[in-house]
Amino acid sequence: MLVLAITTGEKRETMTQTTAAGVEALRAAMTGPVFVPTDEGYDDARRVWNADIDRHPAVVARCRSTQDVVSAIAFAREQGCEVSVRGGAHNAAGTAICDDGLMIDLSEMRDVTVDPEARRVRVGGGALLSDVDAATQAHGLAIPAGLVGHTGVGGLTLGGGMGWLTRRFGLSIDSLDSAEVVVADGRVLRAADDEHPDLFWALRGGGGNFGVVTSFEFRLHEVDPMVRFGLFFWPLDQGVPALRLARDIIAEMSLGINAVAGAVNAPPAPFVPGEYHFRPGYAFLLAGFGTDDEHDLLVQRIRETVPPLFDMVAPMPYVELQKMLDEANAWGLYCYEKGIYVEDLSDELIDVVTEHVPRKHSPLSVLLFYRLDGAYSQVGDNDTALAGGRSPRFGAFIVGLAPDADLLAAERGWVRAFGQALLPHAIGSGEVYINTMAELGEDRVRSAYGSAKYDRLARIKGEYDPENIFHLNANIKPAF
Ligand SMILES: Cc1cc2nc3c(=O)[nH]c(=O)nc-3n(C[C@H](O)[C@H](O)[C@H](O)COP(=O)(O)OP(=O)(O)OC[C@H]3O[C@@H](n4cnc5c(N)ncnc54)[C@H](O)[C@@H]3O)c2cc1C
Repeated sequence: MLVLAITTGEKRETMTQTTAAGVEALRAAMTGPVFVPTDEGYDDARRVWNADIDRHPAVVARCRSTQDVVSAIAFAREQGCEVSVRGGAHNAAGTAICDDGLMIDLSEMRDVTVDPEARRVRVGGGALLSDVDAATQAHGLAIPAGLVGHTGVGGLTLGGGMGWLTRRFGLSIDSLDSAEVVVADGRVLRAADDEHPDLFWALRGGGGNFGVVTSFEFRLHEVDPMVRFGLFFWPLDQGVPALRLARDIIAEMSLGINAVAGAVNAPPAPFVPGEYHFRPGYAFLLAGFGTDDEHDLLVQRIRETVPPLFDMVAPMPYVELQKMLDEANAWGLYCYEKGIYVEDLSDELIDVVTEHVPRKHSPLSVLLFYRLDGAYSQVGDNDTALAGGRSPRFGAFIVGLAPDADLLAAERGWVRAFGQALLPHAIGSGEVYINTMAELGEDRVRSAYGSAKYDRLARIKGEYDPENIFHLNANIKPAF
């Protein structure tokens, strides 16, 4: 006896059904394993990155092929149950998993096939960024993606995808050439500029609304396997000069450099003097992909203008840069986050930051500013479905991270108050990057996209998922 949440159009009600026969049929149809609550492995299968999310799906279908995904969707339609889709399981709001319904788990669909001559890579819908980085860097190539290696390519790409290479090559979606998608009626479609172009447009920013992407095909870019790296750290009372210096450097640096500025606690790393371990403060991370000279000059300028408490400057393999923050963001932490876009690190904004950073409760919590300009801004606002515009900006992410639920409860208040205080400096309506939205109500999603883009997405949704089967996400309601 299993409990499934039954979806009838927009109306959901929970009822009890005997689905054992359905599950057995699904098991027989799939090559990957199927877990129900009594199965060994079920508890592992229902874990997601954010430990604050504790949900119990009735069935987990761990797919190994496109055909498995087709079978899982057919099962969900027969049972009329809720469907969630799990890529890398990183979404902090926990959209990968549902209570009582079916989780389509792509965690074994991680194949990465590189064609170095054609400069293309085909990536399984459940692959992690580290899978892609390892395979592509073997050829001195890369796709622009995020900063943490264990993030899923699936969710990250469908919402945009920003990281160290965004200034040079744009978002992940800007390098996407095509995708294989299983849509709600079970058809397997190729979406590209020349096939289902409306679907292809919607996938580039519209999130998981339009079906299950079983593979992505990206254009690859040349990225030298070695990067010049610098990390600089200042104590809390140096926040204003440190952030102003970071702002000035970011305004002047070439596209061969990228930087992340923010507030963190000093890591207990070998390069950090013991007395500074875990000390709260401000950090500036500088990655040089271009000429060594420019990076060296910036390092010198930082050390002379606002001498840091400590720094670490060294060449680093690109694949290590991509994994550098993995441990600090390990699975099993409790998370609540907010992200907004700001135009500039103005003096007024820096004052808000330096007022709120010292109030955090957990040493793991961070504030990060990602620079978004260059190639990011060379794509038109409506060329993709990305929520938020393409003018040069910073993504400001306030990430409450705690080792347990009690500390997260306190940190949630800090994240909210900080986010509220930054709102007057925000571009647009506030939280607009759908990959980091904490609350996913219809009004918020509509205002993230803006009415015109939302309505266009809603029409495409009406065509490919008229019953809104894929609604556990930043949901677009189908229009007809
Ligand atoms: C530690 C950490 C670091 C991060 N760093 C960055 C960063 O540097 N840059 C950045 O842009 N974002 C970053 N993010 C945000 C990240 O982009 C989102 O959390 C994203 O949702 C993660 O995708 P996922 O596949 O791992 O997550 P999941 O939780 O598995 O997926 C999220 C949603 O995406 C959809 N989805 C996922 N895969 C598929 C698929 N194959 N087909 C259809 N739908 C799918 C589903 O709706 C799913 O619910 C970070 C998040 C975390 C937790």
